[in-house]
Amino acid sequence: MIVGASLAGTRAAEALRRDGFDGAITIIGDESHQPYDRPPLSKQLLAGEWEQDRIALSDDDSLQELNADWRLGRRAAGLDVASRTVTLDDGSTVAADGILIATGARCRELPTNGLDGIYTLRGLDDCLAIRAELEASPQRVAVVGAGFIGAEVAATARERGLEVTVIEALPVPLGRVLGTEIGTVCADVHRDHGVDLRLGVGVDGFDGHGRVERVNLSDGTSVDADVVVVGIGVIPNTEWLEESGLELDNGVVCDETCLAAPGIAAAGDVARWPNPLFGEIMRVEHWDNAIAQGQHAALRLLASDDEAQPYSPVPWFWSDQYDRKIQLAGRARPDDEVRIITGSTEERRFAALYGRAGRLVGVLGFNRPRHVMKYRNLIEQGTSFEDAVEIAEQE
Ligand code: FAD
Ligand code: NAP
Repeated sequence: MIVGASLAGTRAAEALRRDGFDGAITIIGDESHQPYDRPPLSKQLLAGEWEQDRIALSDDDSLQELNADWRLGRRAAGLDVASRTVTLDDGSTVAADGILIATGARCRELPTNGLDGIYTLRGLDDCLAIRAELEASPQRVAVVGAGFIGAEVAATARERGLEVTVIEALPVPLGRVLGTEIGTVCADVHRDHGVDLRLGVGVDGFDGHGRVERVNLSDGTSVDADVVVVGIGVIPNTEWLEESGLELDNGVVCDETCLAAPGIAAAGDVARWPNPLFGEIMRVEHWDNAIAQGQHAALRLLASDDEAQPYSPVPWFWSDQYDRKIQLAGRARPDDEVRIITGSTEERRFAALYGRAGRLVGVLGFNRPRHVMKYRNLIEQGTSFEDAVEIAEQE
């Protein structure tokens, strides 16, 4: 049984069949849509460049071939670990020999003061609602949070020719994942494109008459807005597991093979596990990990304890903003040493290495995909920061 019919869950089901598993598969998902891909929701679909038919995770034939019992529009409400039984929101139960938890995450929200025009962006319906707002040519769009959602929605709205203000509590956009130096470059990219950035300031609340008209900031100023998109991070969907006895701590806590309990594994945005390559307990909120961990965790359910392999990836993500493709492989932290190895930040086309405790831990590319893939391999091999910089100097 797979709980969560999105990226990790769908790729897990495919991996089971590819591996020759011919038993029954039940897939439970609380969204009524067929599985779809989320990255276009802040990019091509929001921009109006693509329509819904482009974002299916698999075509109808491939879904049929999985020969799974899909229970869409049904929420899992509880799990009994000993009998591996899930209770659904209609009171029915489903038991299985193996269970994969892939329930992802949902948006953190701000109190809206009961006003219309304030959105978060996680699912297809959110995207279509925000897109309809952007198509109605609002005068001013405000984006709260300059993380991934904030940065991408701001770029998409600017490319539609709309006035955009971004409000971020940290001193730079994406500062938590990219550090201050590279976050400053991201800020410059948005300013180049005419975004009004309000950095280092929080949001006190929203004002308006039935519909939002203003965002009040913690420094006493305010920003006029007809539409607001809030992108202030996510919360893993683990409430349905609260009575289960599984260890929950900012996600479902797993061992290094992705197992949370005998016969129960977790993958994707909801899973937290010790990655032996980094010596760090991590939860990764990116597309590539949902696929790789979904596949790994599915095969873990078929393996014996002796056969089980640790899951030790170098995490990787991309983010499209205007004509820049930002990619990061590894785990960057704000206080890492950062070295630009090619290109320049002024051109907004460069690659940078991140070092920590003498080790290469990350590589970032602004329109430099080849460098990201090359140094990702070096991270995997445990290369020292010094050696990585030397390799770059010899290029
Ligand atoms: P989810 O996709 O969150 O799926 C979990 C599913 O489980 C959902 O359908 C949810 O409704 C369902 N569910 C939750 N609770 C229950 C329950 N109790 N019972 C049944 N079902 C339940 N990553 C990148 O690397 N690059 C990008 O450019 C990028 N762009 C993104 C843009 C947007 C707008 C968003 C939202 C995310 C983006 N991501 C990107 C991140 C990436 O999409 C996620 O990491 C990925 O979707 C995680 O997959 P998942 O299957 O673990 O979880
Ligand atoms: P995020 O990347 O975690 O960023 C949230 C940002 O909002 C952080 O900078 C955070 O600062 C800030 N913030 C938090 N509370 C705030 C407040 N009250 N006022 C102003 N700013 C505040 O999360 P996200 O952008 O909401 O994205 C949601 C999820 O979608 C994530 O899982 C993300 O990985 C995924 N996603 C990924 C991509 C991609 O990989 N390209 C694209 C879109 C979405 P602090 O850190 O100080 O809290």
